[in-house]
Amino acid sequence: MQPTGRLHIGNYLGALRNWVRLQDDYDCFYCIVDYHALTTVTDPAALRPAVEDCALDWLAARLDPERSVIFLQSDVPEVAELHLLLSMTTPLSWLERVPSFKEKADEHPDNVNYGLLGYPVLQAADILLYAGERVPVGEDQLPHLELTREIARRFNHRYRPVLVEPQPIISDTPRVMGTDGVSKMSKSRGNAILMSAEPDELLRVVSTMVTDVLRPRRSDPGHPESCNVCQLHRIFSPDRYSEIWEGERTARTGCVDTKKALAVAVAEYFAPVRERRHELEARPGAVWEILAEGAARARVTARETIAAVRDAMGLGAAG
Ligand code: ADP
Repeated sequence: MQPTGRLHIGNYLGALRNWVRLQDDYDCFYCIVDYHALTTVTDPAALRPAVEDCALDWLAARLDPERSVIFLQSDVPEVAELHLLLSMTTPLSWLERVPSFKEKADEHPDNVNYGLLGYPVLQAADILLYAGERVPVGEDQLPHLELTREIARRFNHRYRPVLVEPQPIISDTPRVMGTDGVSKMSKSRGNAILMSAEPDELLRVVSTMVTDVLRPRRSDPGHPESCNVCQLHRIFSPDRYSEIWEGERTARTGCVDTKKALAVAVAEYFAPVRERRHELEARPGAVWEILAEGAARARVTARETIAAVRDAMGLGAAG
Protein backbone atom coordinates (compact mmCIF):
# COMPACT_ATOMS: atom_id res chain seq x y z
CA MET A 1 0.00 0.00 0.00
CA GLN A 2 1.26 3.49 -0.80
CA PRO A 3 1.67 5.79 2.18
CA THR A 4 -1.13 8.29 1.72
CA GLY A 5 -1.67 9.05 5.42
CA ARG A 6 -4.59 7.87 7.51
CA LEU A 7 -6.60 5.11 5.89
CA HIS A 8 -10.25 5.47 4.97
CA ILE A 9 -13.01 2.94 5.38
CA GLY A 10 -12.64 1.98 1.70
CA ASN A 11 -9.01 0.97 2.31
CA TYR A 12 -10.17 -0.98 5.33
CA LEU A 13 -13.09 -2.82 3.73
CA GLY A 14 -11.39 -3.22 0.36
CA ALA A 15 -7.97 -4.39 1.54
CA LEU A 16 -6.90 -4.20 5.17
CA ARG A 17 -9.72 -6.27 6.65
CA ASN A 18 -8.88 -9.08 4.27
CA TRP A 19 -5.14 -8.82 5.01
CA VAL A 20 -5.84 -9.21 8.72
CA ARG A 21 -7.75 -12.44 8.01
CA LEU A 22 -5.06 -13.85 5.70
CA GLN A 23 -2.63 -13.89 8.62
CA ASP A 24 -4.50 -16.95 9.94
CA ASP A 25 -3.60 -19.05 6.90
CA TYR A 26 -0.42 -17.63 5.38
CA ASP A 27 3.01 -16.24 6.22
CA CYS A 28 2.36 -12.71 5.07
CA PHE A 29 4.57 -9.84 3.97
CA TYR A 30 2.96 -6.39 4.16
CA CYS A 31 4.90 -3.47 2.81
CA ILE A 32 4.35 0.30 2.82
CA VAL A 33 5.68 1.32 -0.58
CA ASP A 34 7.44 4.64 -0.07
CA TYR A 35 9.64 4.30 -3.18
CA HIS A 36 6.45 4.04 -5.23
CA ALA A 37 5.13 7.16 -3.50
CA LEU A 38 8.10 9.14 -4.83
CA THR A 39 6.63 8.91 -8.34
CA THR A 40 4.05 11.50 -7.26
CA VAL A 41 4.98 12.86 -3.79
CA THR A 42 7.58 15.63 -4.12
CA ASP A 43 7.51 17.08 -0.58
CA PRO A 44 10.00 15.18 1.62
CA ALA A 45 8.38 16.52 4.79
CA ALA A 46 5.11 14.81 3.84
CA LEU A 47 6.46 11.30 3.47
CA ARG A 48 7.39 10.20 7.03
CA PRO A 49 4.11 11.33 8.64
CA ALA A 50 2.23 9.54 5.85
CA VAL A 51 4.20 6.33 6.46
CA GLU A 52 3.64 6.59 10.21
CA ASP A 53 -0.11 7.14 9.81
CA CYS A 54 -0.41 4.17 7.49
CA ALA A 55 1.57 1.90 9.83
CA LEU A 56 -0.45 3.05 12.85
CA ASP A 57 -3.69 2.16 11.09
CA TRP A 58 -2.35 -1.22 9.98
CA LEU A 59 -1.21 -2.14 13.48
CA ALA A 60 -4.34 -0.74 15.12
CA ALA A 61 -6.44 -2.89 12.77
CA ARG A 62 -4.41 -5.90 13.95
CA LEU A 63 -1.88 -6.57 11.27
CA ASP A 64 0.34 -8.42 13.68
CA PRO A 65 4.14 -7.96 13.56
CA GLU A 66 4.59 -11.21 15.51
CA ARG A 67 2.85 -13.20 12.77
CA SER A 68 3.51 -11.12 9.64
CA VAL A 69 6.47 -9.29 8.21
CA ILE A 70 5.45 -5.63 8.26
CA PHE A 71 7.98 -3.23 6.79
CA LEU A 72 8.85 -0.16 4.78
CA GLN A 73 9.83 -0.73 1.15
CA SER A 74 12.90 1.54 1.19
CA ASP A 75 14.29 -0.19 4.32
CA VAL A 76 15.08 -3.14 2.04
CA PRO A 77 17.20 -1.53 -0.72
CA GLU A 78 17.63 -4.93 -2.42
CA VAL A 79 14.26 -4.16 -4.02
CA ALA A 80 15.89 -1.30 -5.93
CA GLU A 81 18.56 -3.64 -7.26
CA LEU A 82 15.98 -6.21 -8.33
CA HIS A 83 14.03 -3.42 -10.01
CA LEU A 84 17.14 -2.46 -11.99
CA LEU A 85 17.91 -6.04 -12.96
CA LEU A 86 14.32 -6.80 -14.00
CA SER A 87 14.27 -3.60 -16.05
CA MET A 88 16.91 -5.23 -18.27
CA THR A 89 14.58 -8.05 -19.20
CA THR A 90 11.22 -6.26 -19.32
CA PRO A 91 10.25 -5.02 -22.79
CA LEU A 92 9.42 -1.33 -22.98
CA SER A 93 6.25 -2.11 -24.94
CA TRP A 94 4.81 -4.04 -21.94
CA LEU A 95 5.14 -0.92 -19.78
CA GLU A 96 3.89 1.59 -22.30
CA ARG A 97 0.59 -0.25 -22.63
CA VAL A 98 -0.16 -0.29 -18.86
CA PRO A 99 -3.28 1.91 -18.44
CA SER A 100 -2.21 3.31 -15.05
CA PHE A 101 0.90 4.86 -16.65
CA LYS A 102 -1.25 6.82 -19.04
CA GLU A 103 -3.68 7.79 -16.26
CA LYS A 104 -0.91 8.95 -13.92
CA ALA A 105 0.79 10.86 -16.74
CA ASP A 106 -2.49 12.65 -17.46
CA GLU A 107 -3.00 13.38 -13.75
CA HIS A 108 0.49 14.86 -13.30
CA PRO A 109 1.46 16.26 -16.73
CA ASP A 110 4.23 18.36 -15.16
CA ASN A 111 5.85 15.31 -13.53
CA VAL A 112 5.87 12.40 -15.98
CA ASN A 113 8.99 10.76 -14.59
CA TYR A 114 10.91 7.61 -15.47
CA GLY A 115 9.78 5.97 -12.21
CA LEU A 116 6.18 6.17 -13.34
CA LEU A 117 6.93 4.03 -16.39
CA GLY A 118 8.94 1.57 -14.31
CA TYR A 119 6.24 1.36 -11.63
CA PRO A 120 5.05 -2.13 -12.65
CA VAL A 121 8.67 -3.40 -12.65
CA LEU A 122 9.13 -2.15 -9.08
CA GLN A 123 5.79 -3.73 -8.21
CA ALA A 124 7.05 -7.03 -9.65
CA ALA A 125 10.26 -6.66 -7.62
CA ASP A 126 8.15 -6.12 -4.47
CA ILE A 127 6.58 -9.52 -4.95
CA LEU A 128 9.41 -11.53 -6.51
CA LEU A 129 12.07 -10.38 -4.02
CA TYR A 130 10.19 -12.12 -1.21
CA ALA A 131 9.40 -15.20 -3.31
CA GLY A 132 5.70 -14.46 -2.83
CA GLU A 133 3.61 -17.48 -3.81
CA ARG A 134 0.21 -15.87 -3.48
CA VAL A 135 -0.87 -12.25 -3.78
CA PRO A 136 -4.26 -11.02 -2.55
CA VAL A 137 -5.83 -8.97 -5.33
CA GLY A 138 -9.22 -7.70 -6.34
CA GLU A 139 -10.51 -8.72 -9.78
CA ASP A 140 -9.50 -5.32 -11.21
CA GLN A 141 -5.89 -5.73 -10.08
CA LEU A 142 -5.42 -9.09 -11.84
CA PRO A 143 -3.73 -7.53 -14.93
CA HIS A 144 -1.04 -6.03 -12.65
CA LEU A 145 -0.28 -9.42 -11.17
CA GLU A 146 -0.28 -10.98 -14.64
CA LEU A 147 2.44 -8.52 -15.63
CA THR A 148 4.51 -9.60 -12.62
CA ARG A 149 4.04 -13.21 -13.69
CA GLU A 150 5.14 -12.37 -17.24
CA ILE A 151 8.21 -10.53 -15.94
CA ALA A 152 9.13 -13.55 -13.79
CA ARG A 153 8.53 -16.00 -16.65
CA ARG A 154 10.66 -14.01 -19.05
CA PHE A 155 13.51 -13.80 -16.57
CA ASN A 156 13.32 -17.51 -15.75
CA HIS A 157 13.22 -18.39 -19.44
CA ARG A 158 16.20 -16.21 -20.37
CA TYR A 159 18.38 -17.21 -17.41
CA ARG A 160 17.22 -20.00 -15.13
CA PRO A 161 14.18 -20.57 -12.97
CA VAL A 162 15.03 -18.60 -9.86
CA LEU A 163 11.92 -16.45 -9.54
CA VAL A 164 8.67 -17.78 -8.11
CA GLU A 165 5.69 -17.07 -10.35
CA PRO A 166 3.02 -15.79 -7.98
CA GLN A 167 -0.62 -16.87 -8.08
CA PRO A 168 -3.52 -14.59 -7.15
CA ILE A 169 -5.82 -14.99 -4.19
CA ILE A 170 -8.84 -13.26 -5.61
CA SER A 171 -10.82 -11.54 -2.92
CA ASP A 172 -14.34 -10.37 -3.45
CA THR A 173 -14.02 -6.91 -1.99
CA PRO A 174 -16.62 -4.17 -2.04
CA ARG A 175 -16.05 -0.94 -3.92
CA VAL A 176 -16.82 1.65 -1.27
CA MET A 177 -18.30 4.88 -2.59
CA GLY A 178 -17.25 8.24 -1.20
CA THR A 179 -19.27 10.81 0.75
CA ASP A 180 -20.34 12.34 -2.59
CA GLY A 181 -22.16 9.08 -3.34
CA VAL A 182 -21.01 9.03 -6.98
CA SER A 183 -17.30 8.25 -7.06
CA LYS A 184 -15.10 5.66 -5.37
CA MET A 185 -13.94 6.69 -1.91
CA SER A 186 -10.43 8.04 -2.29
CA LYS A 187 -8.08 10.31 -0.36
CA SER A 188 -7.28 12.32 -3.46
CA ARG A 189 -10.97 13.01 -4.21
CA GLY A 190 -11.57 14.42 -0.72
CA ASN A 191 -14.62 12.18 -0.23
CA ALA A 192 -13.17 9.87 2.41
CA ILE A 193 -14.31 8.77 5.86
CA LEU A 194 -11.23 7.96 7.93
CA MET A 195 -11.27 4.74 9.93
CA SER A 196 -9.45 6.38 12.85
CA ALA A 197 -11.73 9.45 13.00
CA GLU A 198 -13.06 10.35 16.44
CA PRO A 199 -16.86 10.11 16.93
CA ASP A 200 -17.42 13.88 16.64
CA GLU A 201 -15.39 14.06 13.42
CA LEU A 202 -17.33 11.07 12.06
CA LEU A 203 -20.61 12.79 12.81
CA ARG A 204 -19.42 15.91 11.00
CA VAL A 205 -18.18 14.02 7.91
CA VAL A 206 -21.07 11.56 7.69
CA SER A 207 -23.53 14.48 7.99
CA THR A 208 -22.15 15.86 4.71
CA MET A 209 -22.83 12.59 2.83
CA VAL A 210 -25.01 12.66 -0.23
CA THR A 211 -27.94 10.34 0.46
CA ASP A 212 -31.01 9.32 -1.45
CA VAL A 213 -31.18 11.67 -4.44
CA LEU A 214 -34.52 10.17 -5.49
CA ARG A 215 -36.13 11.38 -2.26
CA PRO A 216 -36.61 15.15 -2.51
CA ARG A 217 -38.86 15.48 0.58
CA ARG A 218 -38.62 13.93 4.05
CA SER A 219 -42.16 12.57 3.65
CA ASP A 220 -41.33 10.72 0.38
CA PRO A 221 -40.50 7.00 0.60
CA GLY A 222 -36.77 6.29 0.33
CA HIS A 223 -34.66 3.97 -1.87
CA PRO A 224 -32.17 2.30 0.44
CA GLU A 225 -30.89 -0.01 -2.31
CA SER A 226 -29.44 2.96 -4.17
CA CYS A 227 -28.43 5.06 -1.15
CA ASN A 228 -24.76 4.93 -0.19
CA VAL A 229 -25.49 5.60 3.49
CA CYS A 230 -27.87 2.63 3.61
CA GLN A 231 -25.36 0.43 1.81
CA LEU A 232 -22.78 1.23 4.48
CA HIS A 233 -25.30 0.31 7.18
CA ARG A 234 -25.29 -3.22 5.74
CA ILE A 235 -21.64 -3.45 6.80
CA PHE A 236 -21.55 -1.34 9.93
CA SER A 237 -25.01 -2.13 11.37
CA PRO A 238 -25.40 -5.81 10.39
CA ASP A 239 -27.99 -6.49 13.12
CA ARG A 240 -30.04 -3.37 12.42
CA TYR A 241 -29.80 -2.70 8.75
CA SER A 242 -33.10 -4.31 7.73
CA GLU A 243 -34.89 -2.17 10.32
CA ILE A 244 -33.03 0.92 9.04
CA TRP A 245 -33.90 0.07 5.44
CA GLU A 246 -37.55 -0.43 6.35
CA GLY A 247 -37.56 2.98 8.09
CA GLU A 248 -36.25 4.60 4.92
CA ARG A 249 -38.66 2.79 2.59
CA THR A 250 -41.70 3.79 4.62
CA ALA A 251 -40.45 7.34 5.35
CA ARG A 252 -40.67 6.56 9.07
CA THR A 253 -37.10 7.84 9.26
CA GLY A 254 -35.35 10.59 7.32
CA CYS A 255 -31.89 10.78 5.78
CA VAL A 256 -30.60 12.84 8.70
CA ASP A 257 -31.58 10.09 11.18
CA THR A 258 -29.96 7.44 8.99
CA LYS A 259 -26.74 9.43 8.73
CA LYS A 260 -26.57 10.03 12.48
CA ALA A 261 -27.06 6.30 13.05
CA LEU A 262 -24.26 5.53 10.57
CA ALA A 263 -21.83 7.90 12.31
CA VAL A 264 -22.55 6.13 15.60
CA ALA A 265 -22.24 2.67 14.05
CA VAL A 266 -18.90 3.46 12.35
CA ALA A 267 -17.58 4.98 15.58
CA GLU A 268 -18.53 1.82 17.49
CA TYR A 269 -17.14 -0.51 14.84
CA PHE A 270 -13.73 1.15 14.94
CA ALA A 271 -13.65 1.88 18.71
CA PRO A 272 -11.12 -0.92 19.45
CA VAL A 273 -9.01 0.23 16.47
CA ARG A 274 -8.97 3.82 17.76
CA GLU A 275 -8.04 2.61 21.22
CA ARG A 276 -5.07 0.58 19.93
CA ARG A 277 -4.02 3.53 17.75
CA HIS A 278 -3.98 5.83 20.78
CA GLU A 279 -1.87 3.29 22.71
CA LEU A 280 0.65 3.14 19.89
CA GLU A 281 0.72 6.92 19.47
CA ALA A 282 1.58 7.22 23.15
CA ARG A 283 4.82 5.28 22.52
CA PRO A 284 6.94 7.57 20.31
CA GLY A 285 9.15 5.64 17.92
CA ALA A 286 7.34 2.31 18.50
CA VAL A 287 6.02 2.18 14.94
CA TRP A 288 9.45 2.82 13.44
CA GLU A 289 10.96 0.07 15.61
CA ILE A 290 8.32 -2.38 14.43
CA LEU A 291 9.00 -1.42 10.81
CA ALA A 292 12.77 -1.80 11.32
CA GLU A 293 12.32 -5.27 12.82
CA GLY A 294 10.09 -6.21 9.90
CA ALA A 295 12.70 -5.00 7.42
CA ALA A 296 15.41 -7.05 9.14
CA ARG A 297 13.26 -10.15 8.65
CA ALA A 298 12.35 -9.24 5.09
CA ARG A 299 16.01 -8.76 4.18
CA VAL A 300 16.82 -12.39 4.95
CA THR A 301 14.65 -13.56 2.04
CA ALA A 302 15.58 -10.52 -0.06
CA ARG A 303 19.30 -11.28 0.13
CA GLU A 304 18.77 -14.89 -0.91
CA THR A 305 16.73 -13.86 -3.95
CA ILE A 306 19.17 -11.15 -5.00
CA ALA A 307 22.13 -13.53 -4.68
CA ALA A 308 20.36 -16.09 -6.90
CA VAL A 309 19.31 -13.45 -9.47
CA ARG A 310 22.81 -11.94 -9.67
CA ASP A 311 24.36 -15.36 -10.07
CA ALA A 312 21.86 -16.37 -12.76
CA MET A 313 22.66 -13.17 -14.70
CA GLY A 314 26.42 -13.71 -14.41
CA LEU A 315 27.09 -10.70 -12.18
CA GLY A 316 30.01 -10.57 -9.74
CA ALA A 317 32.35 -13.37 -8.79
CA ALA A 318 31.12 -16.90 -9.40
CA GLY A 319 28.96 -18.11 -6.47
P1 ADP B 1 -6.67 5.86 -2.35
O1 ADP B 1 -7.42 5.85 -3.67
O2 ADP B 1 -7.50 6.41 -1.22
O3 ADP B 1 -5.32 6.54 -2.45
P2 ADP B 1 -5.21 3.40 -2.62
O4 ADP B 1 -5.28 3.48 -4.09
O5 ADP B 1 -3.91 3.74 -1.94
O6 ADP B 1 -6.39 4.32 -2.01
O7 ADP B 1 -5.68 1.95 -2.18
C1 ADP B 1 -5.12 1.14 -1.19
C2 ADP B 1 -5.93 -0.14 -1.10
O8 ADP B 1 -7.28 0.14 -0.71
C3 ADP B 1 -6.06 -0.89 -2.44
O9 ADP B 1 -5.99 -2.28 -2.19
C4 ADP B 1 -7.42 -0.51 -2.95
O10 ADP B 1 -8.00 -1.53 -3.74
C5 ADP B 1 -8.22 -0.33 -1.66
N1 ADP B 1 -9.23 0.71 -1.85
C6 ADP B 1 -8.98 2.03 -2.03
N2 ADP B 1 -10.12 2.72 -2.16
C7 ADP B 1 -11.14 1.81 -2.07
C8 ADP B 1 -12.57 1.90 -2.13
N3 ADP B 1 -13.19 3.06 -2.28
N4 ADP B 1 -13.28 0.76 -2.01
C9 ADP B 1 -12.66 -0.44 -1.84
N5 ADP B 1 -11.33 -0.58 -1.77
C10 ADP B 1 -10.56 0.51 -1.88
